[in-house]
Amino acid sequence: MSLPDAHGKYGRYGGKFAPEVLMPALEELERSFNGFLKDDRFNSELSTLLHDFAGRPTPLYLAKNLSELCGSRIYLKREDLVHGGAHKLNNTLGQCLLAKYMGKKRIIAETGAGQHGVATAMAAAVIGLQCEIYMGTEDIKRQRLNVFRMELLGARVNPVDSGSRTLKDAINDAMRDWVTNVEDTYYLIGSVVGPHPYPLIVREFQRIIGRETKEQILAAEGRLPDAIIACVGGGSNALGIFSDFIEDQSVSLIGVEAGGKGLATGEHGASLCAGTEGVLHGMYSKLLQDEYGQIKQSHSFAPGLDYPGVGPELAYLVDSGRVRVDSATDEETLRAFELLSMKEGIIPALESAHAIHYAIAHANEWDLIVVNLSGRGDKDIFSVADALKGKEVI
Ligand SMILES: *Cc1c(COP(=O)(O)O)cnc(C)c1O
Repeated sequence: MSLPDAHGKYGRYGGKFAPEVLMPALEELERSFNGFLKDDRFNSELSTLLHDFAGRPTPLYLAKNLSELCGSRIYLKREDLVHGGAHKLNNTLGQCLLAKYMGKKRIIAETGAGQHGVATAMAAAVIGLQCEIYMGTEDIKRQRLNVFRMELLGARVNPVDSGSRTLKDAINDAMRDWVTNVEDTYYLIGSVVGPHPYPLIVREFQRIIGRETKEQILAAEGRLPDAIIACVGGGSNALGIFSDFIEDQSVSLIGVEAGGKGLATGEHGASLCAGTEGVLHGMYSKLLQDEYGQIKQSHSFAPGLDYPGVGPELAYLVDSGRVRVDSATDEETLRAFELLSMKEGIIPALESAHAIHYAIAHANEWDLIVVNLSGRGDKDIFSVADALKGKEVI
């Protein structure tokens, strides 16, 4: 059976936990998405944007030095080479184009560290839509460069000064904006999270990562890989590369979450490894929450993994045993970040370095491994410099 079901559920996860006034908008979105996904004009315009603007297809690169070091063949899917430096643009281009075809003039989104905000502002600019990004004032202080990027790209950044002044407060304000302006406004979610149909929409727009990977690995090796490894924040780069391999039972699929300072410390971002079930951001999924259902602060030095929930489809795939999950700590990730930089001449995003760590640590289990290199690490060099202070560099 293909998921989600008619109610937007993946087993017991997913669904639509949204205010009544948004139900017609979610239904309109689902109808439009299903329609335009089969529309030739829409698909051809999206293909052109992905090819000429985003730079797809991205290479599948045999990391020779890393392979030699680990004793198995390790390929990297180079999403770090997508315009903007990460896979996020695949989704924002798809949704901005969908918004245009739906006749919406205005895009809104929330952002934590600013990466989704920048990718949204880029897509809105090229497609010609007005763009407003909600961001907590605490995050604005920490991520000045991304705020400036969004403004250069023509977006307005709306500061959110309530609650903890971070992502979850920005989500609330963006939702409130959508409720008020639902007629002309498109709400653009950045990962496979939120109420149905968002997890489905984002998966389908990110699916191109796995579709390309399958073609490329068959051309290079004449067979499917033994394992595919991806980091998990909300789960979009993971589901993007996993989706075309779900039926291929010989391929192990592994998601790696933010272990932060260690799962035992409680300071991490590992909703699948250590979360409990509940409702967040309009979906039923695995979350980091206390016994009263209050959302807990997640922790990771990789900004893209610092989210206290995870997409419902991944929660389902983990429960059913199809996807295996583990976590990598900040410390382990830092080592993998240095190793890839020095051995391969590629500075990975800290998010992606979680997956690299897992590949290195478990390479002896498989002969042929693909790691989704979800982004490049230029954005992270100052955090890494801080983390390395007083430590010996390998
Ligand atoms: C945002 C981000 C992630 C995490 O988001 P997912 O939806 O889990 O993919 C991972 N890597 C990079 C480089 C990111 O920018």
